[in-house]
Amino acid sequence: MDRISTAIRAVFSGKLLHQEPLSHHTSLRVGGPADLFAVPRDREDLQVLVKVLDELQIPRIVIGGGYNLLVRDAGFRGCAISLEKINHLAVRQDGVISAEAGGRNIDLARLAEVHGLSGLEFLIGIPGSLGGALRMNAGAHGGEIFDNLTSLELLDAEGVRNYEKKSLHYGYRHLQLEPNKIIIAANFKLAPGSRETIAAAMDDCLQKRRDAQQVRFPNAGSFFRNPPGRTAWRLIDEAGLRGLTVGGAQVSEVHANFLVNRGGATATDFLQLAEMVKEKVFAASGIRLEEEVRITGED
Ligand SMILES: Cc1cc2nc3c(=O)[nH]c(=O)nc-3n(C[C@H](O)[C@H](O)[C@H](O)COP(=O)(O)OP(=O)(O)OC[C@H]3O[C@@H](n4cnc5c(N)ncnc54)[C@H](O)[C@@H]3O)c2cc1C
Repeated sequence: MDRISTAIRAVFSGKLLHQEPLSHHTSLRVGGPADLFAVPRDREDLQVLVKVLDELQIPRIVIGGGYNLLVRDAGFRGCAISLEKINHLAVRQDGVISAEAGGRNIDLARLAEVHGLSGLEFLIGIPGSLGGALRMNAGAHGGEIFDNLTSLELLDAEGVRNYEKKSLHYGYRHLQLEPNKIIIAANFKLAPGSRETIAAAMDDCLQKRRDAQQVRFPNAGSFFRNPPGRTAWRLIDEAGLRGLTVGGAQVSEVHANFLVNRGGATATDFLQLAEMVKEKVFAASGIRLEEEVRITGED
């Protein structure tokens, strides 16, 4: 790893950490270390980093807020990249919002509100970065981040390219993305609206969350995707699984589609619990649940 670090350091000027525990960067608070953890200073720094990692054939993963990510206990053999410094959000003259992937969903939603632009109100309650939200096509309360998107900027070792929305393949909690591509920025065209109405819609979203998701323990939001025409939480609830526990991981007693860390859980606890939930839901309903949470790293 010393030779690799030296090669990276020769061109990369951002922060570079070794054996960084990914449990510090995920909301489930589990996950072993990444061999390398890099925080590029800006886009150019990210570009040289990606180029050198690809030349050295070092696997890489982007970590946003880590709110939808389960990292296995042995961690990630490669380089985890945080875009937290690539976070500029701006409203252009033509009313288009131009947003970098390291920006926070909440800040983007508030920026739209301040400028009287409507369409991203639902984003106010979704924790994480814009990059993660785009990767997951995050949504809530009937809205999805792709609804008002016009284009995406993707980066790989060759450079940055702009992709119009119509060229992208996306769906429920999903964007088809080649593994070597990093989402670096997005543009949104929103409808003009009154600030008061936008603020009221955001308050409404936040209130609904407070009512349904008073989950006190570390979690990753909805763990399983909703199967077509059904809700995962109801299937889990109907199978009688609230409170089911493996080690420190538990099916939340408050929201049946949240798996929570009651303290000291490992990634293995979560993975075993998720398997048990899937088996029992299948036995009870004949429906196979699939994880919404992205799973990465080594066993
Ligand atoms: C309490 C709670 C409530 C939640 N409510 C909702 C909800 O209502 N709706 C909803 O959709 N989600 C919800 N989530 C899940 C989560 O907040 C979203 O999926 C969010 O968009 C994840 O963003 P992130 O930055 O944390 O992504 P991460 O968890 O860091 O990453 C998610 C995936 O995206 C990839 N990724 C991240 N950034 C990039 C990038 N720039 N380029 C390429 N790939 C990238 C990662 O490699 C990973 O595969 C909730 C989570 C919690 C904890």
